[in-house]
Amino acid sequence: MSVEDTRMRDKLRALAGAELVERLDFLERRQQRRLPDAPLPVPAVDDRLDADVIFGGGGLSLLIAAELAGRGISVLVFERARAGTAHREWNASRSELQVLVDRGLLDEATLAEMIVASYKDGFCRFHGGKADHVVAGVLDQAIDAGALAAHVRAVAEARGVRFVDGVSVDGLGPGEYGVRVRAKRLGEIPLADQGKPGKDAVFAQGKLFVDARGASSPYATADLLCPTVGGVLRGLPEGDGPKRWRRDVGEILVTTEGIVDGVQHVWEGFPGRDGELTTYLFYYAKAAKLAGRPRLLALYTRFFETLPSYKDGDPTLVRPTFGYIPGWSRLTRPAAPPHPRVALVGDAAARQSPLTFCGFGAMLRSFVGAADALEKGLTTGQLPPSIVDDAEVHAGTGPLAALMADSGMQGDALNHLLDDAFGALADAGNETYASLLQDRMGRAAFRAFVLQTAGRHPRVYADVFTSLGLVDALRWGAKVTTGFGWKS
Ligand SMILES: Cc1cc2nc3c(=O)[nH]c(=O)nc-3n(C[C@H](O)[C@H](O)[C@H](O)COP(=O)(O)OP(=O)(O)OC[C@H]3O[C@@H](n4cnc5c(N)ncnc54)[C@H](O)[C@@H]3O)c2cc1C
Repeated sequence: MSVEDTRMRDKLRALAGAELVERLDFLERRQQRRLPDAPLPVPAVDDRLDADVIFGGGGLSLLIAAELAGRGISVLVFERARAGTAHREWNASRSELQVLVDRGLLDEATLAEMIVASYKDGFCRFHGGKADHVVAGVLDQAIDAGALAAHVRAVAEARGVRFVDGVSVDGLGPGEYGVRVRAKRLGEIPLADQGKPGKDAVFAQGKLFVDARGASSPYATADLLCPTVGGVLRGLPEGDGPKRWRRDVGEILVTTEGIVDGVQHVWEGFPGRDGELTTYLFYYAKAAKLAGRPRLLALYTRFFETLPSYKDGDPTLVRPTFGYIPGWSRLTRPAAPPHPRVALVGDAAARQSPLTFCGFGAMLRSFVGAADALEKGLTTGQLPPSIVDDAEVHAGTGPLAALMADSGMQGDALNHLLDDAFGALADAGNETYASLLQDRMGRAAFRAFVLQTAGRHPRVYADVFTSLGLVDALRWGAKVTTGFGWKS
């Protein structure tokens, strides 16, 4: 460990306690040492079919498992920790949440109980910008993610889904019925059982495997990564003014400084239960640049040190949340499964918006379609390369995210560009603005948005060429203007 690392650890320990530092170290070790799944030989004799569909990971993607079970399909979930536990807070609009009711996962009353806060609107604000860019009807319902995850697990169990908690999937291979999966038991294995065949691992045979291991999946190879830290804060004073917060307003993207050491940091603030503000600090990054380089420790230290530039007060961090969210620029190869009987979903697939990284909204849009594809795959024996929703506007926003990840800009240059871009969106009206953040925008509207931005910020062309390089800039321009490759 370098002197700088030790200094940083000591600093964060003093700011937030030793336990947080330990948890960060644990996540970083796991993330940096992701191993490919071990290839498994087909067993000589094994005539047991454990489930039609086997899931590795029982996080947000449990929605797909519950939906499949509702159709009478047998499902087995291997989960490293406990399936149906969420350590994050999730936001979406009321209309996006309706699918949970429509698919019988919740009734209206239960959904209403799980909405811990509703906002009249939200805004994006950039350092040195001309205005707050206000939008209504987007990310405006804050959900009790823990309660939702536990509820979905209970529904899934009632529909017959079987859960094996405390096992880590680490092997995958062909099986008599399609796939064979191995999961290593975690935690204590009794001394008497250590080394005995089958005691430290469980095997299962299924027809299809769903990789729902999130950012830990060995197939989560998308080219962007969003290191995110923060959590639920208490004790920040409410009120008007740039450093106060209002319980009926969501803060979607806020910057309080320019680019520092090549990185543009961004804040988010979403009111939750009374007096609580879920606050994140994150940045866009190229995955290759972060490989082998743990970043969350430094980011958390920065979170505490620069929080006063975002909000007044002396808050307490009541629930820390942190991690890496994968994203895909659509300029490189997508994350892809290793076999036609394997599907990537959620963060492993990284088809959510590379601009907002809203995995929750993306899963709400995806889980029914993903279940359709899996149900079909049970009959045909093969799955398409992607079974989750990939909104067409990501062909436009992906390269913008890549630009923000590695802009080569200095100072407030990116803030000025973002301020002009969001100003153009706000001027185009709430529906246009909301449609971009909710991944509903079509190519014509995106093209108009780019032209409006360029009208306000002519430097954008030079910025795009400098950051993306000639080939990618031309490819992106062609997609936006001619539509060629827009839906690929
Ligand atoms: C700090 C942070 C804040 C976020 N905030 C928001 C937000 O406000 N809004 C939003 O929309 N999205 C947010 N996201 C993103 C969102 O939470 C994810 O997109 C979403 O959870 C992805 O769902 P998933 O099922 O793919 O993965 P996860 O929900 O991460 O679940 C993966 C599961 O797989 C398990 N697992 C991992 N490896 C193995 C293995 N080898 N074997 C067995 N099980 C395994 C894990 O224990 C976990 O339970 C946030 C992410 C982070 C990190």
